[in-house]
Amino acid sequence: MNNSGFDKTSFDKASQDKASHGKSSSHKPLKLPVAELRGMVPIKRRYSITTMLTLTSLLVLLLLICMAAMMQSRLLRLQGNIGDIATNAIPSVVHSSKVYSKINQLLYLTEAMGQAPSQAVRHNLYLDIQQNLLGLEQLTADRQSVLYQEAQLVALTEELHSLNELTSQRLELQQQVQTRLTQVYQLYEQLQRAAKTETTASGQQAVGLLDVAEVVAQSGKALTINRLLMLRQLQQQVSKQLAQVTPGKPQAVASKTNLLQQQLQQLLLADDGVFPLRIEQLVVTGRANGRSNFVRNLVLDYARLAENSAYDVSVTVLADAELSNKQIRQYSQQILVVSALALLFLAAGIYLVHLRVVRRLEQLNTNVLKQMQGKPAAHQISGHDEIAAIARSFQFFAATVKQQQQELELLSYTDSLTGLANRRSLELRLAEQLAQAQRQQWPLSILMIDVDCFKAFNDHYGHQAGDRTLQQIAGLLLQGFNRATDSVARYGGEEFVVILPNTNKTGALALAHQLQELVGQAAIAHEHNLAAPYVTVSIGVSSLERAGPSDYDMILRQADNALYQAKDAGRNTVA
Ligand code: GH3
Ligand code: MG
Ligand code: MG
Repeated sequence: MNNSGFDKTSFDKASQDKASHGKSSSHKPLKLPVAELRGMVPIKRRYSITTMLTLTSLLVLLLLICMAAMMQSRLLRLQGNIGDIATNAIPSVVHSSKVYSKINQLLYLTEAMGQAPSQAVRHNLYLDIQQNLLGLEQLTADRQSVLYQEAQLVALTEELHSLNELTSQRLELQQQVQTRLTQVYQLYEQLQRAAKTETTASGQQAVGLLDVAEVVAQSGKALTINRLLMLRQLQQQVSKQLAQVTPGKPQAVASKTNLLQQQLQQLLLADDGVFPLRIEQLVVTGRANGRSNFVRNLVLDYARLAENSAYDVSVTVLADAELSNKQIRQYSQQILVVSALALLFLAAGIYLVHLRVVRRLEQLNTNVLKQMQGKPAAHQISGHDEIAAIARSFQFFAATVKQQQQELELLSYTDSLTGLANRRSLELRLAEQLAQAQRQQWPLSILMIDVDCFKAFNDHYGHQAGDRTLQQIAGLLLQGFNRATDSVARYGGEEFVVILPNTNKTGALALAHQLQELVGQAAIAHEHNLAAPYVTVSIGVSSLERAGPSDYDMILRQADNALYQAKDAGRNTVA
């Protein structure tokens, strides 16, 4: 390889040897880094970004669905509890309080009826009681579950009816006792009047009026005595007093006073007399009081039942409300935990996306920009996800572009016909070698080679034969020099230039003769060559002992001049 490191063309001998028989390096197929390419294709995506995003989304979605399902089930349970409170608990409480109020009223009415002073009051109170019972019945019917209360109510109704009857009986008896007493008082007045008359007529007192007055006064007590025993004692006492009033006077029966006296006895002691009636009244009152107490107890029992039921319901309501409250607290805590988890997963997902996607895309973008600016950039192509695949594809793309660039560059420095370096390449090479010669302080020579009478060759053998000959000559020239640093280029048309670094005039002339002979020995027929019947070349040599970049034009001009001299000298010569 050449020392200058100039590798853009196949200008130097080593590379030109390879291309000597080929038309052009452009015909070589484009070599792509297949081995690398294999690694770049995204074959497997075990942890691809799509999978990652899908999994994260699914996880979050699952959590949200769980949360929604949980919330719904909890809300349904809560709705059940609240519904229970609304449909059972609250109506039960309302019902119980209504029953309680009715029972209080019933209690008052019952007691009032028991103590009713008259039939009219009793009747009205009983009507109210019936109304109240109807209301209670209605309330019980509304709550069919309370069967025991219903049975209680039936018993209560019957007992109240009975109490009403007894009260009515008591009042009636009271009335009768009053009537009898009134009759007793009237009779006593009649007796007084009769006794007065009889005393006036007979001159002696017929009846012991004082005793009778005593009897009537004792009878009046019957109204205020409320104990049966005492009343019976009073009855016996009155009976005795009555017997004493008319001792041993059976003949007095005929007298008016005696008659009235008998009537008095009748009014007081007969079966419908004051005392038996009063006794019966006391008995009835006792029964009525007993019934009243019994009814009172029944009502209180019923009230207790209602109270218990209300208490039970209140307890249930309280328990339900407490449970609902507890559940709401639990649900809100659970929802909070699930929401926090969902947020955590979402944040983790976003962080993962940022880490695995955004940052790597940014890195990839930076690397692409660097590479476009010609700066070195290392892509992270390991991994099995989409971004690694994109990085690998881009790396492959960049490698392909670079290789094509190199191919194009090579083509731009190569002569397409002969495969030698072209004039552009020669100019670069010459400038470079001039600089090198200056640095190394060595001589530099160039040979300018021109095919003799080549126009005539073309005219006679045709242009294609001319092309083939030019290729042949290029090959011969490449074979003609042995130093790796020597190089040959097609200067234009049928002209070639050889650059010989570190070569003085003598060496250059020797090589020129050697090349001239090499072409001549090839004996390519050329009938119209003025110098020989075969293809020959004329060579102009230019050598500089101390060359530098500023000698560029001069060295070429000198070689050109030398070539003219060689032509003038009859061609197939070296000058
Ligand atoms: P001289 O000996 O004075 O150099 O005469 P010459 O005919 O070689 O020189 P001239 O400059 O008159 O003609 C050069 C010819 O080289 C003209 C052209 O037909 C031929 N030529 C130039 N380039 C090519 C090429 O690429 N292929 C072919 N076949 N011929 C070429
Ligand atoms: Mg020429
Ligand atoms: Mg010529």
